[in-house]
Amino acid sequence: MKRVERAVGAVVGSAVGDALGAPFEFGPEGAFSARFPRPHAGGEMCGGGGWEPGEATDDTQMAVLVGESLLRHGRLDLPDVFARFQRWAASEPKDIGLQTEDVLTNGMPWDRAAAVHFQVNQRAAGNGSLMRASTSAVHFAMDGRSATMDAARRIAALTHGDRAAWEGTAVFHELIRVTLADIDPLQALPEILSLVHPDHRPRYATVLAPDWHPDRATEFNGAVWPCLGSAVWALRTTTSFEDAVRAAVDLGGDTDTVAAVTGGLAGAYYGLDAIPARWTAPLHVPLPGFDGRVLRLPELTDLATRLAG
Ligand SMILES: [Mg+2]
Repeated sequence: MKRVERAVGAVVGSAVGDALGAPFEFGPEGAFSARFPRPHAGGEMCGGGGWEPGEATDDTQMAVLVGESLLRHGRLDLPDVFARFQRWAASEPKDIGLQTEDVLTNGMPWDRAAAVHFQVNQRAAGNGSLMRASTSAVHFAMDGRSATMDAARRIAALTHGDRAAWEGTAVFHELIRVTLADIDPLQALPEILSLVHPDHRPRYATVLAPDWHPDRATEFNGAVWPCLGSAVWALRTTTSFEDAVRAAVDLGGDTDTVAAVTGGLAGAYYGLDAIPARWTAPLHVPLPGFDGRVLRLPELTDLATRLAG
């Protein structure tokens, strides 16, 4: 498979997972399969809970903001990414993570806001930096392992002061990088784990182990560890893009984000052509604060293609 097909698959796959999971957010395990018992039957991109069918949420909106900043500047311009996040957060997006909103609106400069929030609250290991990583992962994949993991950590640190969130985002970046290079991401996991900061390695080793199951999570899957672990589990235990994302949404909880992370991994693994057209057709990504723009499949494909350079 061509590298660009995997890159577009990662970005579009993440957006599709986000939109598919959004109506089921905070619902119970099994809600998706109860409503759509037969795979491939259609109608799954159903909307609900304030979301239109195919409407992507903050996960994809923030991923697009990161991607557009990277293309505009040709490099990682952290103050610009932060300013775009702030402009978006000030424009009443339908959904925004509590911690992300606090960091973007607490009046502190870009290089202090997340750290100050973490000092005060001591809890900042949500999945909010992991959820938006598809575009940066595709972009930095060409720069090699240490560059992509370093970029992941720095973008995560814009909103998340807890290193646990940085490390999870860095693992996601590296999983995408190896997949784009035609390496099996699951085979690469032990080596990727060795690159995780030692303070955080045991916890990631637990949730990324071959025998881990989301039922063993010790936190809600809005936390970074079970979110990443669940996405890798969904990829490992299924054999198609559709089944991986179905499994992710069916876990319940933070369904849009777990499915967005799963969709990023599975989209890179299986490629754009494996993503059902009935899911990409209604897909749309509103960008509050950016002149009413709405990205659809052609715009997302163009964004990912240019990011993959
Ligand atoms: Mg969301």
